[in-house]
Amino acid sequence: MAYLATPTATAEIIKKYSFHFQKKFGQNFLIDANILEKIIHSAEITGEDCVIEIGPGIGTMTQYLAEHAREVVAVEIDKNLIPILEDTLLEYHNVTIINEDILKVDIAGLADEKNGGRPVKVVANLPYYITTPIIMGLFESKVPLSSITIMVQKEVADRMQVGPGTKDYGALSLAVQYYAKPELIMNVPPACFMPRPGVGSSVIRLTRFTEPPVKITSEKKLFSIIRAAFNQRRKTLVNALVNSSSLIDDDGNGRRATRSEVCDVLDKMGLSQTIRGEALTLEEFAEFSNLF
Ligand code: SAM
Repeated sequence: MAYLATPTATAEIIKKYSFHFQKKFGQNFLIDANILEKIIHSAEITGEDCVIEIGPGIGTMTQYLAEHAREVVAVEIDKNLIPILEDTLLEYHNVTIINEDILKVDIAGLADEKNGGRPVKVVANLPYYITTPIIMGLFESKVPLSSITIMVQKEVADRMQVGPGTKDYGALSLAVQYYAKPELIMNVPPACFMPRPGVGSSVIRLTRFTEPPVKITSEKKLFSIIRAAFNQRRKTLVNALVNSSSLIDDDGNGRRATRSEVCDVLDKMGLSQTIRGEALTLEEFAEFSNLF
């Protein structure tokens, strides 16, 4: 099977199988070999690696992954793509295709089964409608991971990298930067996909920290504070937290905050009582969470 990463080869497969693109699955297939090579290179795939690919489509990126990695597990939701993948990946004996919704797959279990629990690499041209739940799921479910190299909507890549003082800064920025070091690899124009998406795309690599950059007493508590702060980002941190009904304490139980305890913590940190959550760094959120 020839490489699929050209407009002609992709169009031929689409025609051969009378495949209909499903917008609801975020199907925009890569048709540019240069971009694929750069993704594989920046993901630093070696012959030792077990790679999990989310949404292989017709197998365009899977071909490259299979040639570089020891083992590839590709999870695709669209059952109409499974016979196509069985054809396009026929000659690769190190690829397992799973017809499932990635949000329902036990990825930690897969890493255990396929890689003896050692860290896997995730590489994907993601379906944009579920980018955040996929990334958060990978981090929060404690999948053993060394890196995630993914194509995402450009705006989402921007959000992952910024700090306080920009409009893109939010819960996703803090979560990503708590778990990993984000690095922009490249921007990718719509013309590199079939069909063309309505937005610009970027490839970003998230290298998982072995130790988080801040020490905290409870991740659940920290992230409940961050979520509450950004749910009402135009409000002061005091008001956002007092209004929240979903804060979590050190033992994982739900709790509500009183105005005076939030003010006390801000005083101890030397921060103004009128500060907004969007002005706090990850280190400050961590300190706030530990004192709260
Ligand atoms: N990897 C291919 C490529 O680069 O050409 C296709 C990428 S396309 C942007 C996203 C792929 O994810 C599609 O094949 C789509 O069917 C699949 N997909 C969408 N939602 C999914 C889900 N919940 N679980 C697994 N795959 C999904």
